[in-house]
Amino acid sequence: MPRERVLVVDDEPDVLRICQRILSGDGYAVTTVSNGFEAVQLASREEFDLLLTDIRMPGMDGLDVAEAARTVNPHLVCVTMTGYSTMDTAIEALRLGIDEFIIKPFLPQDLVAAVTRALEKERLRRESARLRALLPLFEANKVFMSTTEVARLAQQVVAAAVRELNADRAVLFLFESPRSSPTRLESAHAVAPLNVLEHELGPWMSVAQEAMRFESPVVFGQHNPSEALVEMRASSVLGCVVHAKQGALGALTLSHDEPGRTFGEGDREFLSVLCGQAGIALENATLFEELRRAYEELKQLDYMKSEFISIAAHELRTPLAILMGYAGILEGMVPSHVKQYATIILRNAGRLRALMDEMLNLDSLERGASFVRLEAMSLAEVVQDIVDDLRPLADSRNQVVRLELSDRDVRITTDREKFGMILTNLLSNAIKFTAEGGSIAVRAGAHEDGVLVEVEDTGIGIAPEKWQRIFERFYQIEDSLTREHEGMGLGLSIAKGMVELLGGEIWLTSEIGKGSIFRFTVPLSPRS
Ligand code: ADP
Repeated sequence: MPRERVLVVDDEPDVLRICQRILSGDGYAVTTVSNGFEAVQLASREEFDLLLTDIRMPGMDGLDVAEAARTVNPHLVCVTMTGYSTMDTAIEALRLGIDEFIIKPFLPQDLVAAVTRALEKERLRRESARLRALLPLFEANKVFMSTTEVARLAQQVVAAAVRELNADRAVLFLFESPRSSPTRLESAHAVAPLNVLEHELGPWMSVAQEAMRFESPVVFGQHNPSEALVEMRASSVLGCVVHAKQGALGALTLSHDEPGRTFGEGDREFLSVLCGQAGIALENATLFEELRRAYEELKQLDYMKSEFISIAAHELRTPLAILMGYAGILEGMVPSHVKQYATIILRNAGRLRALMDEMLNLDSLERGASFVRLEAMSLAEVVQDIVDDLRPLADSRNQVVRLELSDRDVRITTDREKFGMILTNLLSNAIKFTAEGGSIAVRAGAHEDGVLVEVEDTGIGIAPEKWQRIFERFYQIEDSLTREHEGMGLGLSIAKGMVELLGGEIWLTSEIGKGSIFRFTVPLSPRS
């Protein structure tokens, strides 16, 4: 840290020497002079942090020295030295804004303490001024960051700049998308003109263009005239680029209209920071709007897809039912060598119907159009029914299905059809993904305030990184072109949707090559 510079003024050489010794010993860079005129001259040539001056001096007294030195350096800290006889003057000195005074004769530590206190006061003064200046920026930033609509945000940026800089008129120009600078503003839109009419925008844009060209705020006024200033009938104008990470987003131009008023260095700095904040907020808002648009489009597409699925499935159902009806009649009428064909038609039509049912089920789950029909039932009974239904399928693959039910039956109030469909999906997957001759176990029983059902197979297993994904619709681990198994990848997403509709959870554990355990819970009765 650079040493603080102290200028000591006293007409007594002994005092000068003592001050020099004490303050240098404490780390200050000390300069001494023996009269007020010399001190003022030196203070106007060099920069000091603190003036330590005697009050009573021949020629120019200490208060005059302090006043003159402060006209050159307003931040100069002033400490006066005075004898008892001039106590009134010391009080007067404080009244005039002198930071500290010490009474002669003083101890070394008193001098050091007075100088340190005075410098600390100034530091605190500057700090609080800095914080006060930051406050409007902080407030503006809070407002910007909470706005996600570009048009509204643009209005807020203009309003904040006009309010804080006391401007009369303002225009914010924005490009459709960010440009790398330097760039021309012709394609920018005046998104938020404040007190400026459409046909007056030309000169405002040319000021903004200048700011773009220099990539820093520009001021035109009495000392720096421009054609635009005259056309705008303003006394001073300030333009600043609005930058974001991806490049320039546009520029902001402000005016003072009253004669004599002008934008200063502080205003330039303030606007530069404000435009920086505005740039980040505008970029975020633009991204947010793009996301919102993309989301709306996706939602629309999703809606159209759902509509298509449900219309197509409903329309196909009737001809399919007719087909199955007549195939069924034929199966019973035709000679045995033709009957096998009718059986094949019936089986495949049945598969087609099952697929359409899956699509419709998922569609209504996703649209929140599924209803729960509650009824009280025995857990053992409903699980037994499903296992019985699917046992022929397991038999056809020489698989053993073990059913393990808890000794005491559990009564449960839930949707029988949906509960059955969940277990059917899990058990048919277990059969499908277990090799011929393998074994499967189904377990069911009470668990906490509900029931827990487990389907354990000895099949191909699922890698842990797929444990979540297999519940997504249409997700299948095997490639659809090379896969050996039937299905569309909807069963598990339907099962998950239904478990959640019934108020439970579904999850799995698995080991590749060894098998999988799918588990789901359902509450004993629906949670209110
Ligand atoms: P589908 O069985 O119609 O393909 P699912 O949604 O029921 O659709 O299952 C999604 C995918 O999860 C299956 O294609 C399969 O890759 C995997 N999978 C499901 N159950 C098992 C299981 N018991 N063992 C191994 N893989 C399974």
